Amino acid sequence: MNKNIAVIRGDGIGPEIVNEAIKVLDVIAQKYGHTFKYTDADMGGCAIDKYGDPLPQSELDKCLAADSVLLGAVGGPKWDSVPGNMRPEKGLLRIRAGMGVYSNNRPAKIWPQLASASPLKPEIVEKGIDFIIVRELIGGIYFGEHRTFGDGEKVSEDVMRYSESEIERIGRIGFETARKRRKKLCSVEKSNVLDTSRLWKSVIHRLAGEYPDVELSDMLVDNCAMQIVKDPSQFDVIVTENMFGDILSDEASMITGSIGMIPSSSLGATSNGLYEPIHGSAPDIAGQDIANPIGTILSAAMMLRYSFDMSQEADDIEAAVGAFLSKGYRTRDIMSGGEGLKPAKCSEAGNLIAAEIKANK
Ligand code: NAD
Repeated sequence: MNKNIAVIRGDGIGPEIVNEAIKVLDVIAQKYGHTFKYTDADMGGCAIDKYGDPLPQSELDKCLAADSVLLGAVGGPKWDSVPGNMRPEKGLLRIRAGMGVYSNNRPAKIWPQLASASPLKPEIVEKGIDFIIVRELIGGIYFGEHRTFGDGEKVSEDVMRYSESEIERIGRIGFETARKRRKKLCSVEKSNVLDTSRLWKSVIHRLAGEYPDVELSDMLVDNCAMQIVKDPSQFDVIVTENMFGDILSDEASMITGSIGMIPSSSLGATSNGLYEPIHGSAPDIAGQDIANPIGTILSAAMMLRYSFDMSQEADDIEAAVGAFLSKGYRTRDIMSGGEGLKPAKCSEAGNLIAAEIKANK
């Protein structure tokens, strides 16, 4: 198969981790007879430096024309003082909206090899951690009106708005995802306080009639934040709005060991998806070749699985990551617990995982 992948390296550790994912994709292409063509697109701080804009239309167009987009991360202290609507992270919001990717899918799964890296008690980890957060991505408070006003004391407001159709389309993704897994869907909101949450709950319950095989439960977001650390084994699929999903998915990533391990996919109505690790640009470790590239490598695997229909190739990458960990290799962020662990730099991790794929029959 021939596929055109738009590649956004971004800022901080972005270029380092994306390079390793491309190494892995190249080995997959060679092994399975595919051709992956990469088109570089600028977004984030590097685009501000080059064009004075975190996502110029020309760069968004490259992403829209591609079969899918692989993204590292954007942002960093260098751009902290630029005005709000020109910040690197605005590029992220714009690409999500521009591509119409309304559903962000973040797995929280513990690799047995990394059980000791989880901050949770062993008896909790032993019960298993394997759930997915389906987060609404292009609505809610992040996309509502933001303004600061007042002559004397300043007042700010950010508007949270959801329509029934926005809730319905993400709700369907939640039910469909649960249907392919253990058939349990937990809808998370704050319906004791927010109107948007009350609408959310009523739309999700209306949809439940179409999915009688899926067991639906409701949970307030504050309780959910507690339950994720108390007993994560209770969750299969969580569906929630944009800001709640942002916060809960970072919490979920921590209990699995490291934020550097978690991939994500963002999809809308077409197969052109946006694939990125869930972490940021980690400016504190950029340029040192010590970042963990596995979240990005697994994001590339998700791209193969969900956008290119290449399940076997995706399985191959995931097996190679498993073999890398089983052999005791660890990047610095996951170097804890256990004897005989072998330190691996970011580039070494990419080389070793690529070598595992070559060796896999
Ligand atoms: P961060 O995720 O970049 O880093 C948090 C901590 O995790 C840091 O200690 C970092 O070193 C570590 N870390 C992150 N990824 C790692 C990896 N792959 N390997 C090893 N360690 C890793 O979050 P932050 O420090 O809050 O944000 C830094 C910048 O990234 C900010 O400008 C922020 O706005 C931006 N950001 C971008 C995205 C994105 O591009 N999708 C997401 C979140 C934050």
